[in-house]
Amino acid sequence: MKLNIKDTFNTQLLSDPKTSNERRQVSNAMFSFVTPRKPSAPKLIHVSQEVSQFLGISMEEAQSEEFLQIFSGSKIIEGTHPYAMVYGGHQFGNWAGQLGDGRAINLCEVVHNEYRWALQLKGSGETPFSRGADGLAVLRSSIREHLCSEAMFHLGVPTTRSLSLILTGDDVLRDVMYNGNSAYEKGAVVCRVAPSFIRFGNFQIFTSRQDIDSLKLLTDYTIRNFFPDIELGSKEAYLEFFQEVLDRTLDMILHWQRVGFVHGVMNTDNMSILGLTIDYGPYGWLEGYDHGWTPNTTDKEGRRYRYEYQPRIALWNLLQLANALFPLIGESEPLEKILNSYSSRYAVENLQMMKAKIGLFKEDENDQRLIDHLEKMLQLTETDMTIFFRNLANFKRETEIDLGGKFLSIIEDSFYDSNRMKPVIASSWKDWFELYKIRIEKEKYSDSERKELMDETNPKYVLRNYMAQLAIDAANQGDYSLIDELYHLLKNPYGEQPEQQKWFAKRPEWARNKVGCSMLSCSS
Ligand code: AMP
Ligand code: MG
Repeated sequence: MKLNIKDTFNTQLLSDPKTSNERRQVSNAMFSFVTPRKPSAPKLIHVSQEVSQFLGISMEEAQSEEFLQIFSGSKIIEGTHPYAMVYGGHQFGNWAGQLGDGRAINLCEVVHNEYRWALQLKGSGETPFSRGADGLAVLRSSIREHLCSEAMFHLGVPTTRSLSLILTGDDVLRDVMYNGNSAYEKGAVVCRVAPSFIRFGNFQIFTSRQDIDSLKLLTDYTIRNFFPDIELGSKEAYLEFFQEVLDRTLDMILHWQRVGFVHGVMNTDNMSILGLTIDYGPYGWLEGYDHGWTPNTTDKEGRRYRYEYQPRIALWNLLQLANALFPLIGESEPLEKILNSYSSRYAVENLQMMKAKIGLFKEDENDQRLIDHLEKMLQLTETDMTIFFRNLANFKRETEIDLGGKFLSIIEDSFYDSNRMKPVIASSWKDWFELYKIRIEKEKYSDSERKELMDETNPKYVLRNYMAQLAIDAANQGDYSLIDELYHLLKNPYGEQPEQQKWFAKRPEWARNKVGCSMLSCSS
């Protein structure tokens, strides 16, 4: 296996002079050199074929002992110098000070086919940033991160990727629901891959310490390497940079809302500067279309990171980034102007996205109202988001909207309890469908063309929480086949895949309140 190593982060930026894993505050540096922990009995569970391919690793090489050693943390690639990054962050709205890569270790950067990729192990032991924790990750969270990163990519959502999932052979003590019931679980390491893992918090930490030289060094590095169209040398460059980060973040959030993804922990240390979905922890997928839902039990009081708040939380996080970049710009007005453009732009793009979900493409002044009306309907009875939008594409112009409610058969499968559909609700649906029918007449597309377009926007298959949990339960028994089955299923989420129809189904009742399915914590 020959990787084309071209490190920049740990060669162009400042390192912490200390090299031990001892917990500490690291100042005037962007990273600390660290050594990954050697696992006692590493075992390869899964490799993403695509990710290995774009790194220049053949499938044969991915099955080799060398691959296992490198991506489990056992062996350091010759000539590389692994490191953990320094960052801070706002957690649940409060400044938390230094956080840093507490259980992530960056191995190196690889350039293949002119693309640059940073390789990072998650769960390979302590770093100076591990605070009171062990730097390890459990199998369940690692399966969730590995599968979801890849699934999100194939859904068209900007995201970090995952190369491999490896069991360490070491047990890890975790208190899953933080209720005093600690137990040992299998440990695992995932190798994450992205152009860069820099977060909003990497900039915030320097401004919080009034270390403007380091702030400038990191920002210039980021622009030079990842925003090459921006010409450095003036404060305009930093404004352009901020604008670009805002654009990418907004785009990412729109995709989350489109597919029903709830991140669960949108702290500023979990916001990628490249607008990638990063840090898959207690995330989840909307099943019932409940805008107030969050999968994260650690956030159950305020539900700060609920589905409907994600767009505004992203803006709040961008405001924190603006504060962090402020010393490089020296005036707040141009930053405020960029921030102020977010909400109106989001509203416009969100409308467009929601219209695409129901097959509308022309301008019509009543569309927002039609969508608001629909969203209200979807919350009257528990309605499965994925199934509803996917099946709505089967509506045809000649579908009769009868009083008896037979037209509802098109979307019936998406109702969690169709027997409880009260006549008054059925009659409201009738009102909505009548408006919808009139509206689609105005489009130039035939029924089948509309269906084709809608199917490109509305996935048929997403990684529902219970699906991931089934794969986890099987893996804990030593059966890894479901991980691979779901990996392949989710590579084509918009395709019909009739042989996989069993995964196009509502969440089963047993999963409604099960830990790991609808209830997840930050414990991972
Ligand atoms: P998260 O909530 O996963 O984004 O993590 C917040 C901070 O806690 C980051 O600095 C992580 O690196 C750190 N962290 C989370 N879990 C662990 C762990 N098991 N060991 C060490 N650090 C951790
Ligand atoms: Mg994190």
